[in-house]
Amino acid sequence: MKKIAILGSTGSIGTQTLEIVREQRDLEVVALAAGSNIQLLEKQIREFHPRIAAVWDSKAAARLRENLRDLDVKVLTGMEGLLETAVYPDSEILVTAIVGMLGIRPTVAAIEAGKTIALANKETLVTAGHIIMPLAKERNVQILPVDSEHSAIFQSLNGEGGNKISRILLTASGGPFRGKKREELTDIQVEDALKHPNWSMGKKITIDSSTMVNKGLEVIEAKWLFDVSPDDIQVVVQPQSVIHSMVEFEDGAVIAQLGTPDMRLPIQYALYYPERRPLGGDRLDFEALKSISFEEPDRKTFRGLSLAYDAIARGGNIPTVFNAANERAVAKFLNREIRYLEIDEMIEACMSDANYMPAPSIEQILETERSVYDYIESRW
Ligand code: NDP
Repeated sequence: MKKIAILGSTGSIGTQTLEIVREQRDLEVVALAAGSNIQLLEKQIREFHPRIAAVWDSKAAARLRENLRDLDVKVLTGMEGLLETAVYPDSEILVTAIVGMLGIRPTVAAIEAGKTIALANKETLVTAGHIIMPLAKERNVQILPVDSEHSAIFQSLNGEGGNKISRILLTASGGPFRGKKREELTDIQVEDALKHPNWSMGKKITIDSSTMVNKGLEVIEAKWLFDVSPDDIQVVVQPQSVIHSMVEFEDGAVIAQLGTPDMRLPIQYALYYPERRPLGGDRLDFEALKSISFEEPDRKTFRGLSLAYDAIARGGNIPTVFNAANERAVAKFLNREIRYLEIDEMIEACMSDANYMPAPSIEQILETERSVYDYIESRW
């Protein structure tokens, strides 16, 4: 039995990871962590019997502890709970499926403890890629991408040894507002932005997909995972979400991974890499599909993408500013405190105001995050 721990077990990636555990029967869940949804977490604990469970919210943790008196499970809380989940002695793989920069410290701790990382939490690499990647190399720890695009790139690189990548072609669906101009987005409501055409995901990433900030985060994530210059990462809009991404090599050959939009595939691939296991679900039907189309991204309307390229070109703590500003802006939009188009305006304002730090430590990354939040509170 391969032992796994999951940060964010009650979310979209977390629940799909548990579906795979249920299906495959040779994975053992040893630790689970969530934010506050103790109803679902309790169900998961009763079904999968982890030895520890962490709940960020301390009141919710106390209620869960009470509800689970009949079981032998340790309930922890706060950052301490996330860290213990990340380094639980028995586990071999940590699935990082929480949202946001909160994932940095547990991911670093897990790498230091020698755990393989199945990485969904892209915000960690975006802000701390310069710390995570060298640390993983030093500790000989594998970082296996769960994000479908990065998994596709990873799969396309299989068997290529040291062959040099000439370009990464990162595909994007274009989101629910593809084809619209900025002036048509002034009255977008939360419900409109939460309707992704192809993927069913958590709220934050769904909003990020609609603004194309998600694609920007993925460009930065790809830079770190595959050690390529952002100039060699091209975003290609492919509205059907059939091609999950492609790699072009020096001889002009392009290798792609295709499939239906189903996150269970990249999750399962990361859990069993390099083995492929059977997986139920729809298969691509090329006769029904008939065509796959391509477009250039509209950077004037979806400014988040250009801001991400700008952030990575400036480097240092600027990707953290980009990410933290977006996290706060999306939370405010979901809370109906700001308008849709203010999301990228807020990111741009924070990036203009930022104090540059060349190679921030984790403390400096978290300090940058705090100063971005303070700046937003003082201006909005
Ligand atoms: P969800 O919003 O669906 O789930 C987030 C999970 O994190 C929940 O389990 C939530 O717990 C937990 N969580 C939130 N805050 C805390 C906290 N303070 N402490 C502990 N746990 C917390 O997100 P997704 O599953 O969609 O996304 C997770 C990550 O994966 C993101 O970084 C996203 O960008 C990335 N990703 C997601 C994809 C997808 O298809 N969903 C695809 C590719 C990448 P609770 O339920 O209790 O709030």
